[in-house]
Amino acid sequence: MKKGVLLIGYDVERIPGRVPGEKWVGRSIPENTTAVFLEKIRRLHEELEVPATIFMVGCNVAQNVPALAACRDSGWFEIAQHTWSHYPIKTIVEDSPYKVFLPGLPFEKIEEQIARPVEELQKHLGITCTGVTLPYCYYRGLADRPDILAFVRKYNLHYVRSYGRNHHDYGPVSWDVQPFWYERQGFPEILEIPIQGWMDAQWRKEHGWENWSAYHDWLKEQMAVVAERGLCWSHVQHDWTSLLEDESLEWTRRLLLAAREKVECLTHDAFYQRMSATRSDV
Ligand SMILES: [Zn+2]
Repeated sequence: MKKGVLLIGYDVERIPGRVPGEKWVGRSIPENTTAVFLEKIRRLHEELEVPATIFMVGCNVAQNVPALAACRDSGWFEIAQHTWSHYPIKTIVEDSPYKVFLPGLPFEKIEEQIARPVEELQKHLGITCTGVTLPYCYYRGLADRPDILAFVRKYNLHYVRSYGRNHHDYGPVSWDVQPFWYERQGFPEILEIPIQGWMDAQWRKEHGWENWSAYHDWLKEQMAVVAERGLCWSHVQHDWTSLLEDESLEWTRRLLLAAREKVECLTHDAFYQRMSATRSDV
Protein backbone atom coordinates (compact mmCIF):
# COMPACT_ATOMS: atom_id res chain seq x y z
CA MET A 1 0.00 0.00 0.00
CA LYS A 2 1.19 3.54 -0.76
CA LYS A 3 2.23 5.40 2.35
CA GLY A 4 2.09 9.06 1.36
CA VAL A 5 -1.14 10.94 0.86
CA LEU A 6 -1.63 13.82 -1.57
CA LEU A 7 -4.63 16.10 -1.23
CA ILE A 8 -4.97 18.29 -4.31
CA GLY A 9 -6.88 21.49 -3.68
CA TYR A 10 -7.78 23.94 -6.41
CA ASP A 11 -8.51 27.42 -5.10
CA VAL A 12 -11.02 28.76 -7.64
CA GLU A 13 -11.07 32.45 -7.00
CA ARG A 14 -10.86 34.73 -10.02
CA ILE A 15 -12.60 38.01 -9.18
CA PRO A 16 -11.90 40.51 -11.99
CA GLY A 17 -10.32 43.70 -10.66
CA ARG A 18 -9.30 42.11 -7.35
CA VAL A 19 -8.15 38.48 -7.44
CA PRO A 20 -5.45 37.74 -8.26
CA GLY A 21 -3.66 41.04 -7.77
CA GLU A 22 -2.55 41.54 -11.35
CA LYS A 23 0.11 44.02 -10.31
CA TRP A 24 1.66 41.28 -8.18
CA VAL A 25 1.28 38.69 -10.94
CA GLY A 26 2.83 41.12 -13.42
CA ARG A 27 0.33 40.51 -16.20
CA SER A 28 -3.37 40.48 -16.87
CA ILE A 29 -5.45 37.36 -16.28
CA PRO A 30 -8.52 36.60 -18.45
CA GLU A 31 -11.82 37.46 -16.81
CA ASN A 32 -13.39 34.12 -17.73
CA THR A 33 -10.65 32.09 -16.05
CA THR A 34 -12.93 30.33 -13.57
CA ALA A 35 -15.39 29.10 -16.22
CA VAL A 36 -12.61 27.85 -18.49
CA PHE A 37 -10.83 26.15 -15.62
CA LEU A 38 -13.86 24.32 -14.21
CA GLU A 39 -14.65 22.78 -17.57
CA LYS A 40 -11.09 21.69 -18.31
CA ILE A 41 -10.22 20.41 -14.86
CA ARG A 42 -13.36 18.26 -14.71
CA ARG A 43 -12.51 16.59 -18.00
CA LEU A 44 -8.95 15.95 -16.88
CA HIS A 45 -9.89 14.37 -13.55
CA GLU A 46 -12.62 12.28 -15.18
CA GLU A 47 -10.11 10.99 -17.68
CA LEU A 48 -7.34 10.23 -15.19
CA GLU A 49 -9.66 9.21 -12.33
CA VAL A 50 -7.90 11.22 -9.64
CA PRO A 51 -9.90 12.87 -6.82
CA ALA A 52 -9.44 16.49 -5.79
CA THR A 53 -11.10 19.31 -3.90
CA ILE A 54 -12.39 22.53 -5.42
CA PHE A 55 -12.30 25.45 -2.99
CA MET A 56 -14.71 27.92 -4.53
CA VAL A 57 -15.16 31.57 -3.61
CA GLY A 58 -18.82 31.83 -2.66
CA CYS A 59 -19.52 34.97 -4.68
CA ASN A 60 -18.83 33.05 -7.92
CA VAL A 61 -20.98 29.99 -7.19
CA ALA A 62 -24.24 31.32 -8.69
CA GLN A 63 -22.74 32.11 -12.09
CA ASN A 64 -21.01 28.71 -12.36
CA VAL A 65 -23.75 26.33 -11.25
CA PRO A 66 -23.83 23.99 -14.30
CA ALA A 67 -20.04 23.63 -14.30
CA LEU A 68 -19.90 22.98 -10.56
CA ALA A 69 -22.79 20.52 -10.81
CA ALA A 70 -20.88 18.64 -13.50
CA CYS A 71 -17.83 18.49 -11.23
CA ARG A 72 -19.98 17.24 -8.36
CA ASP A 73 -21.71 14.63 -10.53
CA SER A 74 -18.45 13.31 -11.94
CA GLY A 75 -17.72 11.79 -8.55
CA TRP A 76 -14.10 12.97 -8.59
CA PHE A 77 -14.52 16.27 -6.76
CA GLU A 78 -15.32 17.48 -3.34
CA ILE A 79 -16.61 21.06 -3.51
CA ALA A 80 -15.75 23.20 -0.52
CA GLN A 81 -15.24 26.91 -0.03
CA HIS A 82 -12.59 29.62 -0.22
CA THR A 83 -14.67 32.20 1.73
CA TRP A 84 -17.22 34.51 0.15
CA SER A 85 -14.99 37.07 -1.57
CA HIS A 86 -11.35 36.35 -0.78
CA TYR A 87 -10.25 38.88 1.82
CA PRO A 88 -7.38 38.07 4.20
CA ILE A 89 -8.85 36.74 7.43
CA LYS A 90 -5.57 37.30 9.32
CA THR A 91 -2.96 39.99 8.66
CA ILE A 92 0.03 39.05 6.52
CA VAL A 93 3.44 40.71 6.85
CA GLU A 94 5.72 38.89 4.43
CA ASP A 95 9.43 38.69 4.98
CA SER A 96 9.88 38.02 1.27
CA PRO A 97 11.42 39.81 -1.74
CA TYR A 98 8.01 41.42 -2.25
CA LYS A 99 7.42 42.70 1.30
CA VAL A 100 3.71 42.05 0.95
CA PHE A 101 1.49 43.54 3.66
CA LEU A 102 -2.17 42.54 3.70
CA PRO A 103 -4.26 43.81 6.60
CA GLY A 104 -6.71 41.25 7.93
CA LEU A 105 -10.42 41.85 7.72
CA PRO A 106 -12.03 43.56 10.74
CA PHE A 107 -13.47 40.95 13.06
CA GLU A 108 -17.09 41.97 12.49
CA LYS A 109 -16.77 41.21 8.78
CA ILE A 110 -15.30 37.72 9.15
CA GLU A 111 -18.40 35.69 9.99
CA GLU A 112 -20.24 36.38 6.73
CA GLN A 113 -17.15 35.38 4.75
CA ILE A 114 -17.47 31.88 6.18
CA ALA A 115 -21.27 31.71 6.48
CA ARG A 116 -22.42 32.82 3.03
CA PRO A 117 -20.63 30.19 0.92
CA VAL A 118 -22.13 27.45 3.09
CA GLU A 119 -25.62 28.77 2.27
CA GLU A 120 -24.78 29.31 -1.38
CA LEU A 121 -23.43 25.80 -2.01
CA GLN A 122 -26.47 24.31 -0.31
CA LYS A 123 -28.94 26.51 -2.17
CA HIS A 124 -27.59 26.11 -5.70
CA LEU A 125 -26.01 22.67 -5.58
CA GLY A 126 -27.41 20.84 -2.58
CA ILE A 127 -23.85 20.51 -1.29
CA THR A 128 -23.10 20.39 2.41
CA CYS A 129 -19.82 22.25 2.67
CA THR A 130 -17.47 20.69 5.20
CA GLY A 131 -14.25 22.64 4.74
CA VAL A 132 -12.66 25.97 3.95
CA THR A 133 -9.35 27.21 2.60
CA LEU A 134 -8.69 30.66 4.00
CA PRO A 135 -7.35 33.26 1.53
CA TYR A 136 -3.55 33.64 1.42
CA CYS A 137 -3.11 31.20 4.35
CA TYR A 138 -1.26 32.08 7.51
CA TYR A 139 1.55 31.20 9.88
CA ARG A 140 0.13 28.76 12.46
CA GLY A 141 -3.23 28.71 10.69
CA LEU A 142 -5.96 29.53 13.20
CA ALA A 143 -4.00 28.25 16.21
CA ASP A 144 -3.96 31.79 17.62
CA ARG A 145 -7.55 32.65 16.62
CA PRO A 146 -10.15 30.71 18.60
CA ASP A 147 -12.59 33.55 17.83
CA ILE A 148 -12.48 32.56 14.14
CA LEU A 149 -12.51 28.83 14.92
CA ALA A 150 -15.84 29.53 16.64
CA PHE A 151 -17.29 30.54 13.24
CA VAL A 152 -15.86 27.40 11.66
CA ARG A 153 -17.72 25.38 14.27
CA LYS A 154 -20.91 27.45 14.04
CA TYR A 155 -21.28 26.68 10.33
CA ASN A 156 -20.48 22.98 10.78
CA LEU A 157 -17.22 22.93 8.88
CA HIS A 158 -14.96 20.20 10.13
CA TYR A 159 -11.66 21.09 8.56
CA VAL A 160 -9.76 24.28 7.72
CA ARG A 161 -6.84 24.65 5.35
CA SER A 162 -5.30 27.80 6.74
CA TYR A 163 -1.69 27.03 7.70
CA GLY A 164 0.36 27.84 4.59
CA ARG A 165 3.15 30.17 5.73
CA ASN A 166 6.22 29.81 7.93
CA HIS A 167 7.44 32.26 10.60
CA HIS A 168 8.58 34.63 7.84
CA ASP A 169 4.94 34.76 6.77
CA TYR A 170 6.15 33.17 3.54
CA GLY A 171 7.19 29.80 2.10
CA PRO A 172 8.19 27.11 2.38
CA VAL A 173 6.25 25.41 5.16
CA SER A 174 8.15 22.52 6.74
CA TRP A 175 7.07 18.90 6.32
CA ASP A 176 7.01 18.71 10.10
CA VAL A 177 3.76 20.68 9.94
CA GLN A 178 1.28 17.85 9.51
CA PRO A 179 -2.51 17.87 9.95
CA PHE A 180 -3.54 18.52 13.55
CA TRP A 181 -6.69 18.95 15.63
CA TYR A 182 -7.44 22.32 17.22
CA GLU A 183 -7.71 20.64 20.57
CA ARG A 184 -5.75 23.10 22.70
CA GLN A 185 -7.93 25.92 21.44
CA GLY A 186 -11.07 24.09 22.52
CA PHE A 187 -12.11 22.78 19.09
CA PRO A 188 -11.04 19.12 19.18
CA GLU A 189 -13.39 18.24 16.32
CA ILE A 190 -11.79 20.68 13.83
CA LEU A 191 -8.85 19.48 11.78
CA GLU A 192 -6.20 21.77 10.29
CA ILE A 193 -4.92 20.50 6.95
CA PRO A 194 -1.81 22.61 6.22
CA ILE A 195 -0.39 23.47 2.82
CA GLN A 196 3.30 22.55 3.00
CA GLY A 197 6.20 23.51 0.79
CA TRP A 198 5.50 26.45 -1.47
CA MET A 199 2.16 27.73 -2.62
CA ASP A 200 2.29 27.45 -6.40
CA ALA A 201 1.91 31.20 -6.97
CA GLN A 202 4.86 32.01 -4.68
CA TRP A 203 7.24 29.48 -6.24
CA ARG A 204 6.25 30.38 -9.77
CA LYS A 205 6.44 34.12 -9.30
CA GLU A 206 9.97 33.79 -7.92
CA HIS A 207 11.17 31.39 -10.64
CA GLY A 208 9.17 32.68 -13.61
CA TRP A 209 5.55 31.93 -14.50
CA GLU A 210 6.64 30.24 -17.73
CA ASN A 211 9.07 27.94 -15.91
CA TRP A 212 6.67 24.99 -15.63
CA SER A 213 9.31 22.38 -16.26
CA ALA A 214 11.40 23.34 -13.21
CA TYR A 215 8.24 23.70 -11.14
CA HIS A 216 7.13 20.23 -12.16
CA ASP A 217 10.54 18.83 -11.15
CA TRP A 218 10.11 20.50 -7.76
CA LEU A 219 6.64 18.96 -7.38
CA LYS A 220 7.97 15.52 -8.19
CA GLU A 221 10.76 15.91 -5.64
CA GLN A 222 8.20 16.80 -2.99
CA MET A 223 6.08 13.81 -3.92
CA ALA A 224 9.09 11.55 -3.44
CA VAL A 225 9.59 12.96 0.08
CA VAL A 226 5.89 12.47 0.87
CA ALA A 227 5.98 8.86 -0.35
CA GLU A 228 9.25 8.09 1.42
CA ARG A 229 8.24 9.55 4.77
CA GLY A 230 4.57 8.58 4.66
CA LEU A 231 3.39 12.18 4.98
CA CYS A 232 0.20 14.01 4.16
CA TRP A 233 0.64 16.84 1.68
CA SER A 234 -2.02 19.34 0.77
CA HIS A 235 -0.93 20.88 -2.51
CA VAL A 236 -2.48 24.07 -3.83
CA GLN A 237 -3.10 25.19 -7.38
CA HIS A 238 -5.46 27.93 -8.47
CA ASP A 239 -7.78 28.38 -11.41
CA TRP A 240 -5.60 31.18 -12.74
CA THR A 241 -2.19 29.64 -11.97
CA SER A 242 -3.17 26.34 -13.56
CA LEU A 243 -4.07 28.04 -16.86
CA LEU A 244 -1.22 30.57 -16.77
CA GLU A 245 1.27 29.53 -19.48
CA ASP A 246 -0.56 26.19 -19.76
CA GLU A 247 -4.00 26.58 -21.31
CA SER A 248 -4.29 22.88 -22.08
CA LEU A 249 -3.47 21.89 -18.46
CA GLU A 250 -0.69 19.69 -19.78
CA TRP A 251 1.47 20.29 -16.70
CA THR A 252 -1.42 19.54 -14.38
CA ARG A 253 -1.93 16.32 -16.34
CA ARG A 254 1.70 15.40 -15.69
CA LEU A 255 1.28 16.14 -11.99
CA LEU A 256 -1.76 13.87 -11.78
CA LEU A 257 -0.03 11.09 -13.67
CA ALA A 258 2.97 11.26 -11.34
CA ALA A 259 0.69 11.39 -8.31
CA ARG A 260 -1.21 8.28 -9.39
CA GLU A 261 2.06 6.35 -9.44
CA LYS A 262 3.65 7.61 -6.27
CA VAL A 263 1.07 8.42 -3.61
CA GLU A 264 -2.52 7.94 -2.59
CA CYS A 265 -4.77 10.82 -3.71
CA LEU A 266 -7.79 11.79 -1.63
CA THR A 267 -10.16 14.71 -1.30
CA HIS A 268 -9.69 16.79 1.82
CA ASP A 269 -13.01 15.61 3.20
CA ALA A 270 -12.12 11.95 2.63
CA PHE A 271 -8.86 12.57 4.48
CA TYR A 272 -10.77 14.19 7.35
CA GLN A 273 -13.10 11.17 7.52
CA ARG A 274 -10.12 8.85 7.73
CA MET A 275 -8.40 10.91 10.44
CA SER A 276 -11.61 11.06 12.38
CA ALA A 277 -12.25 7.32 12.16
CA THR A 278 -8.76 6.38 13.32
CA ARG A 279 -8.54 8.78 16.25
CA SER A 280 -7.68 7.31 19.58
CA ASP A 281 -7.39 10.51 21.63
CA VAL A 282 -11.06 11.44 21.95
ZN1 LIG B 1 -6.96 32.29 -2.70
